[in-house]
Formats: sequence, structure tokens, C-alpha cells
Amino acid sequence: MQHSTSSALVVSGWHRKSYNYNDDTKISKQLEGLIRKLHAFVGNAVTRNRYIVLGAGSTQILNAAASALSLENTSSHSPTRVIASVPYYSLYKEQVEYFNAERLEFEGEAYTWRNRSDGRPSTNVIEFVTSPNNPDGRLNKAIVGGPSVKTISDRAYYWPHFTPIPAPADEDLMVFTLSKLTGHAGSRFGWAVIKDETVFNRMVAHMDLNSMGVSRDTQLRAFKLLKAVLEEGTGIFDFAYRTMKTIWERLAATLALSNRFSLQKFNPQYCSFYSKITYAWVKREREEDKDCYAVLKAANIIGRQGNIFGSEDRYVRLSLVRSQDDLDILIHRLRELVSAGTM
Ligand code: PMP
Repeated sequence: MQHSTSSALVVSGWHRKSYNYNDDTKISKQLEGLIRKLHAFVGNAVTRNRYIVLGAGSTQILNAAASALSLENTSSHSPTRVIASVPYYSLYKEQVEYFNAERLEFEGEAYTWRNRSDGRPSTNVIEFVTSPNNPDGRLNKAIVGGPSVKTISDRAYYWPHFTPIPAPADEDLMVFTLSKLTGHAGSRFGWAVIKDETVFNRMVAHMDLNSMGVSRDTQLRAFKLLKAVLEEGTGIFDFAYRTMKTIWERLAATLALSNRFSLQKFNPQYCSFYSKITYAWVKREREEDKDCYAVLKAANIIGRQGNIFGSEDRYVRLSLVRSQDDLDILIHRLRELVSAGTM
């Protein structure tokens, strides 16, 4: 709202009617340049000598990445295994099972895969590494290594309003999204930064068949927004950091009064207070208090059950980036639960 003019976009009705774009990738070079500039300014990703692919949100990118990497498995008839450490963002599993069931098999917990006893090297494995993680905000690292393990690094939250940025990320295939940078989730715009040319070409081919590239209108909107972000220097990050910090302070103060429920704890090496991630990963402390979701739901607080993230139902994820009113109501209802002794 403070930058409504500089971030506004007006498009005439006659403008941009054809499919045409500058080249086969259907990616605006100006937008690509801006993305590289933004990463250089923030220092959160290496983009020099890397390829960039755009998608309809990172959702489309994640699927394109898994499909592209599965094509590397040419030698065997067995599917490529897909793993992620628990709790993981549930979309990875859902996409693999819905779109790629022939070639990919979601195995779940990365630790189990690493510690399996047969001693065989890991072949044909794709690991999703989400850092910071959804739902618990941890800075995850790859669990399974080796030459035939491909990694998809979901860096959606690797921005300074959520987490410290100790160094630019430089993984083989990194995924980012406007949804978690500026909050424009409905515009559906994400991108990947890729080292390998073959993987890049396969992802471009995927996008072409899937949707003929990202909507040009969306690319224009993303361009205008990223330009406004860059013009403000650290402004948007400072603003978002302060906002997230206030949310977390209020939530932590409320749950600190409960000895039955707790919030995720962050390793102090990452952050002196909390990582200001957009989700609270709430745990019921007592073994017998299994169904965290039901207790919160009875108090009109709707979260997402732990099992959706491959975890236990003692956990619930609460989404924190809502309107001020929603947040006030959430805190109010949590306070009532805590003071009633239910929490
Ligand atoms: N990755 C992570 C870790 C997420 O939390 C989300 C959104 N919840 C996404 C990807 C997908 O976001 P989008 O498709 O809006 O880019």
C-alpha cells in the first residue's frame, strides 16, 4: 500500500495478444535479468552461469523438476525413489503420486532411506530438501548423498524476512516463489535456478507441453513487483521482518503460558530468537494427548494435521500470515484455551 503507484500495472486491452515471445523458453529476458539482480542484492542464491526457468508458482516448477530428474533414470526398470525428511511439505508426495506414478515412487522419510541396512549405494533417488522447511522452519540439509541422488532444493522461504542468510545458496536445482517473497501467491509465479543444461532443457520442454510457458500477463506483473522491490532497497524485507517478528512474539508469549502445548524450537546458531517462518508447528507435549488438531478445532482454530506432513498427529501446523483480524482472533482463541487449562 505504501508503494501502490510504483508497483501498479496497467495493460491496454489490445496489448500482447499473440503467443509470441522472444525465444523458445517463453521467458522474458528483462524479468530474468531482474530475478538475477534481486538474488545478487539479497545474497541468497548464486545465479551467475545458471539457467532460469519460470513456472506457474513453484508448484508447477516442483513438478517439472521431479519429471526432468526422473528422465535421468534410463538404466533400470525400477522407478526413481522420492524422499524428503519428515515433516515435509505434503505437495511433494501428492504431485509424485498424481502425476508421475509410473516413473517415480514416493518413499517418504529420508532418514529411513539413509539408514537402511542393505548397504547398497543409493541409486535413482530424488530428495526434496526444503530450507527453511515448511512446516517447522528448520534449515534442512540433504540427508542422502551420492552421485546418483538428485536434489531439489526448495528455497521458497530463503529470504531475509524469514531466516538469516549466511551465504548464497548454490545447489544444483533451487526453487523460489513470488508467493513467499512479496506474498502475491494468487499471481502464480515461481522460478528455478539450475546448474545443468540438460535438466534446464527438460524443464523448459515440460513447461512448453504443460502450459506453453508462464502467462505473459503474470510475467509482466512479476516484473513490475520485483522492480518495485529492488527500488526500495531493503524496505520490503525490513517491513516483512518486523511484521513476522511481532506475530511470533505474540504467539510465543501466548503459548509460553501452556505446559501442554509447545512451539518448534530453532537452533540458536540459525537465529537469536526465532526463524520468522510463516507457520507455527505446534506440538502437544503429553503422549496421551494425541490429537492436537481436534483440540484446536473444538476451539475454532483450524490447522493442518501432522500426518499430512508425514509426522504424528500430536503436531498441527498453524498458518500465521493472515489479516490482522484473523491473527487477533487466533491469539484470542489460543489464550482462552490456555487459560481454560486445555492447553
Ligand atoms: N514450497 C513450499 C515449501 C511451500 O510452502 C509452498 C507454498 N505453501 C510452495 C512450495 C508452493 O508455493 P507456490 O506454488 O505458490 O509458489
